[in-house]
Amino acid sequence: MKTILFNLTPAELQDFITRLGEPKFRAKQIEDWLNRGAPDFSVMKNIPEKLRQKLSEIAVTLPVKIVKKLESSDKQTTKFLLQLNDAEQIECVLMRTTYGNSVCVSSQAGCAMGCKFCASTLLGLKRNLTINEIYSQILVAQWELRSAVTSDKSIKANGDPNNFDVSHIVVMGTGEPLQNTENVIGFIEKANKDMGIGWRRITVSTCGVVPGIQDLIKWGRPINLAISLHAPTNDLRDTIMPINHKYKLEEVLENAFKFSDLHNRQLMIEYILLAKKNENGETVLYNCTQEQAEQLSKLISGKNCMVNLIPWNTVDERNFVSPSGNAVHRFQDILIKNGIHTRIRRERGQDIGSACGQLRLNNAKDNKCN
Ligand code: SAH
Repeated sequence: MKTILFNLTPAELQDFITRLGEPKFRAKQIEDWLNRGAPDFSVMKNIPEKLRQKLSEIAVTLPVKIVKKLESSDKQTTKFLLQLNDAEQIECVLMRTTYGNSVCVSSQAGCAMGCKFCASTLLGLKRNLTINEIYSQILVAQWELRSAVTSDKSIKANGDPNNFDVSHIVVMGTGEPLQNTENVIGFIEKANKDMGIGWRRITVSTCGVVPGIQDLIKWGRPINLAISLHAPTNDLRDTIMPINHKYKLEEVLENAFKFSDLHNRQLMIEYILLAKKNENGETVLYNCTQEQAEQLSKLISGKNCMVNLIPWNTVDERNFVSPSGNAVHRFQDILIKNGIHTRIRRERGQDIGSACGQLRLNNAKDNKCN
């Protein structure tokens, strides 16, 4: 198996390079390339060709390799299918937005949570990702941003041609971050220290793993927390999110508000809008009727939070449909009338299967990829 150079400490890297009969300074040069996210050795133009060749036979740069790269038609979103060293595959998404460049990272290969509307959990959980496997996803995005600056000038963060840094991170890719809390925390610490990304520009989203939220409280960093709520009652939530059998909605919210209040942050509440087709082919709202909007309002009224409404993105294997635009706005209007701060999430990259809940393991279905 080839050595993953990014996983070596500086001392180990130096040892590795000097054993090849090379001077120490080469190790430092290579380390710089690794920290910039170099996908392979061919880009390391200050390293002699012969050494690059030698290295490519015995080593790789990062613990992830780009298998496919997909660009949305508006060029603002890029999805990467990445292969890990043991051949598992994950996805991450780079979103060029008006406020900066945001990367959505995966925390696990697959997911064990079994939510009934999501693609990420269809094949179950394969394994947790390591700190470096999560961190490499932002390096891949960073490298992409930097190389796009020199190659295609039309690809850039909205309005700012010089913005080619990753500025925001959302841990909202495949997997449940709070089932891999230790590595997710390690990753965030590293992103903060090595890439200078502020705590407040990092968001972790959970389906409601209460002990994990308590770990975040103990950890004490003022990141943003998002809760995938998706239903205003336990009865309804039980039908779409198996985790709710273990941690009830009230307990999840209580702990989540404890976290966000501690840092004086607004809690983000994610709420997918789901509908179904009945026998007559009519669309029936599943979790977003006017009554459910009232129930949701009551549940969080007076709390420091924002409800992010996410019209359901199509996942072929799941038997939901997306409600009409009118239904979405009627639901939102009731929340607004009740004084709840709310926004409809702008979905990015639906044409490349990179919107919420469309990321999946071993991307066999995505034959649009090339
Ligand atoms: N496991 C974490 C991280 C995933 S974040 C969590 O549950 O929060 C991805 C977000 O997209 C979650 O809010 C998830 O519930 C939501 N989602 C899943 N499937 C979706 C779909 N098909 N359409 C829209 N949102 C979806």
